Amino acid sequence: MSQWVYRFGNGKAEGSAAMRNQLGGKGANLAEMSALGLPVPPGFTINTDVCTWFYKNGKSYPDGLEKQVADALAAIEVSVGRRFGDPKKPLLVSVRSGARVSMPGMMDTVLNLGLNDETVEGLVRESDARFAYDSFRRFIQMYGDVVLGVEHHHFEEALELHKEERGVTLDTELGADDLRHLVGAYKAIVQQELDQPFPQDPQEQLWGAIGAVFGSWQTPRAVTYRRLHDIPEEWGTAVNVQAMVFGNMGEDCATGVAFTRNPSTGANEFYGEFLVNAQGEDVVAGIRTPQHLTVAGRIANGSELPSMEEVMPGVFGQLLAVREKLERHYCDMQDIEFTVQQGRLYMLQTRSGKRTAAAALRVAVDMVKEGLIDEREAVMRIDPASLDQLLHPMLDPKAERRIIARGLPASPGAAAGQVAFTADEAEDRASHGEQVILVRVETSPEDIHGMHAAVGILTTRGGMTSHAAVVARGMGRPCVSGAGDIRIDAGKRIMKVRDVIVKDGDTITLDGGTGEVMLGAVPTIQPELSGDFATLMEWADRHRRLRVRTNAETPADARTAVRFGAEGIGLCRTEHMFFEDERIVAVREMILAGDEKGRRAALARILPMQRADFVEIFKIMKGLPVTIRLLDPPLHEFLPNTTEEMAGVAKAAGVSVEDVRERAAALKEANPMLGHRGCRLGITYPEIYEMQARAIFEAAAEVKKATGDTVEAEVMIPLVAMVKELTILKTMVDRVAGEVSRERGVEIPYLVGTMIELPRAALRAADIARDAEFFSFGTNDLTQTAYGLSRDDAARFITYYERQGILQQDPFISLDTVGVGELVEIAAQRGRKTRPDLKLGICGEHGGDPASIRFCARVGLDYVSCSPYRVPIARLAAAQAALSKEAAGQATV
Ligand code: PEP
Ligand code: MG
Repeated sequence: MSQWVYRFGNGKAEGSAAMRNQLGGKGANLAEMSALGLPVPPGFTINTDVCTWFYKNGKSYPDGLEKQVADALAAIEVSVGRRFGDPKKPLLVSVRSGARVSMPGMMDTVLNLGLNDETVEGLVRESDARFAYDSFRRFIQMYGDVVLGVEHHHFEEALELHKEERGVTLDTELGADDLRHLVGAYKAIVQQELDQPFPQDPQEQLWGAIGAVFGSWQTPRAVTYRRLHDIPEEWGTAVNVQAMVFGNMGEDCATGVAFTRNPSTGANEFYGEFLVNAQGEDVVAGIRTPQHLTVAGRIANGSELPSMEEVMPGVFGQLLAVREKLERHYCDMQDIEFTVQQGRLYMLQTRSGKRTAAAALRVAVDMVKEGLIDEREAVMRIDPASLDQLLHPMLDPKAERRIIARGLPASPGAAAGQVAFTADEAEDRASHGEQVILVRVETSPEDIHGMHAAVGILTTRGGMTSHAAVVARGMGRPCVSGAGDIRIDAGKRIMKVRDVIVKDGDTITLDGGTGEVMLGAVPTIQPELSGDFATLMEWADRHRRLRVRTNAETPADARTAVRFGAEGIGLCRTEHMFFEDERIVAVREMILAGDEKGRRAALARILPMQRADFVEIFKIMKGLPVTIRLLDPPLHEFLPNTTEEMAGVAKAAGVSVEDVRERAAALKEANPMLGHRGCRLGITYPEIYEMQARAIFEAAAEVKKATGDTVEAEVMIPLVAMVKELTILKTMVDRVAGEVSRERGVEIPYLVGTMIELPRAALRAADIARDAEFFSFGTNDLTQTAYGLSRDDAARFITYYERQGILQQDPFISLDTVGVGELVEIAAQRGRKTRPDLKLGICGEHGGDPASIRFCARVGLDYVSCSPYRVPIARLAAAQAALSKEAAGQATV
């Protein structure tokens, strides 16, 4: 006969914390606490297999369950000296759901089960009438609501009505007779709503509640929650039935919740609240103001209510001992629930406590110092993505804020600045030292300079993967996207949200972590990169094998990345450098020139500027490797769109507006993603790449002379599909390197490699590696070309596909899915076959995604490259990848 029911209580348990899959989180931990000898009211858990059985068999129960439940209930009766349904000394129980992971979409709790017209009188005789009828009316309401489906508000209305009639405001002002009256009223509500009486038979009540818990697994709310959190349907829920203890029997009773450490800061201090003479839900419901557990907590929060330490010193002492025991046992910060009945402490729940990123760091580092966990465990415990919360300036939590609109939290961090409605305006004002927030309906590549200059970006249209969002994340600029309530009137240079008007130059604040837009400047605080953060990163670095580089093209980004621990630049996109003020003029002249001679003349003016860019970056990187990608985008991106702008360009270049328009039309790509760009441009206009190569090598020579640092330049050719393309361009780069080396009289070490960002290149990697000294996986383009979708298109489809259940995961986020990752793996293997020391890296957005980083470690890449602000995330994810590999290796030995 299968075991469906697992008992706990009295220092014993049939289950344990390790049986979470069987018993659910709550049941497993109740068993564990019992076995530890903590005061847990006795009870039992019906396992998750019953839930599975229930749904496979037309909502019925397996043979033997009924008997196992009856026996377990009898054991509770013996243990507490009360009987279920006994009119003299009734046993009351709680019934709670409990899945493997906590699921707010499910039925939670029914308390006081077992009360009826007879048993309530037993309770009256044992304690007092007020308590007994209060428990009964709570039971009818909870059971009515969660089991019978009679909505809460019916009961609330009856309660309010009665309070009004009695002229009182607080529930606590109601006496025994009032509560008895309410019990009658509540029963009448059930009768009226369901056309049947409230069930009096405790067995019927019990099985009703058990059925409701299993039934709640498939409510639309629970189904949605599971889908959103990737929780498999097969998991099922367990049911926990436990003897009631009462926190509402008088002044020596209480109920409370606590964290074994401070969940916002991680400080090793007991942190929690309780209410005297109250039952479970009252603490969370916020009906009464809870009191602090400790004197220190009371003082820190300026509370006038006495702490538990003061009013119940004995129980407080017991609770402290429990705290100590739980932490030593679980080696983690716990979130606990307890009840005090007539001076005796009972534990009702423990689980690993949710915490902020800062608290997670502090707890992990402290616990290593305390000898509870080791360094590896500390590194494994921190969610790499959560570090994002710590790396950006944050709004001062103490400051006041006036929120005027909300959009999507597109790129984290907070920024306050003056509104500018165009990229040029933003750049211009920023160059005069102003902090600017760029506000656009949406952004395009032409706005890049303004986005760079701005301290924050706000758009009224577009999602989490819109141009603004992706670029802002890359730059580490806070961004709120798609704030649809805001109307921009570009003509009047204002934006409006309902009756609030914000003018050009007015100050607003963005919180890219929440999507809030606020009026005025809300003060921000800088992130702290020392202390626990530094300690944990040091531990992470000790264990990782993957190197971590950054994608950076400005000195500011390079400096930030170095501060965050970048070990080189994995992608310096040179096109952004072309957008800067003086250069864009020369770039446009180059594009508009009719022949090679004209192009060379314009390029000669760009060369010194480009060289100066590289000198600065090489100096910041102090000998660390720097991968520079030669020009990638199609040329039309550099040309203006509006007639006004075209006129400006025509004037500067000394040609007619018509000429500009014609050239722009000729260069326009039907599919800019796949057209005349990357190495194809390098082949059709070799003078462009030649200028760039020269700028790189001259800068390397100059820096070597000035600082003595040997620059490790890696020249990267984009969008190669055939080895021949690479061969031609590599020959040219080698020639230029030789020339510069001779002219300057210095050795210039360098590598030439390619991006692998087209499926064909991945498949032909064996050929390409004959000429490439390194590959860098451009998984942005590789994803787009593999799926046939651009990132923005994907955002539209993904939402639809997710709703239809076609996709579980955004393919643009992780390489850990079949398809793009497979292409990367194939290319890595084939490339290394040709050239065993081929350097392999990744510079698409996946380089900053923890799951993709794990994948990169597995397929043997040498490094990942990501935006500066993701560098610490990548360092930690790389360490976790190495440590789990180590653990897996040990497990198979
Ligand atoms: C890529 O394609 O992954 C890449 C890094 O290049 P870009 O995003 O500039 O096209
Ligand atoms: Mg690309």
